[in-house]
Amino acid sequence: MPLIDYRRARELVSIRDVLSLLCWRPNQVKARQSARGPCPLHKGGGGSSRIFAVNYVNNWWYCHKCKTGGNQLELYAAALGLPLYDATLQLCEHVAGYVPTRCGILMRGKNGHREEEPVKDPSDLDAPPPNFQ
Ligand SMILES: [Zn+2]
Repeated sequence: MPLIDYRRARELVSIRDVLSLLCWRPNQVKARQSARGPCPLHKGGGGSSRIFAVNYVNNWWYCHKCKTGGNQLELYAAALGLPLYDATLQLCEHVAGYVPTRCGILMRGKNGHREEEPVKDPSDLDAPPPNFQ
């Protein structure tokens, strides 16, 4: 399996993207930088709960009941009960249409299989070769 570039994955997908996929709604928003609401990981808390804290600037979250926090990729993995690798793969494909890897990117080919391309940005795939006139 290709190695995921987690730093680029975190640049590609924000915690807002993850929270919107989880249908999360805040009960309190502070200056658009942080918010609080019910925890998407543990059941309970109810609709008016503010036990779960999110920072949109740092893409950070923390639940005061679960005593767990982390970045946006870890939130998606925890919410779906997936290993971080599988969660990041799914998340990047869903949000960006490709997965950043150490050697380039991973994209689904016409046959539906994932193929690794040695480019850092998928828009390069459509670019003409350097000597093209
Ligand atoms: Zn929780």
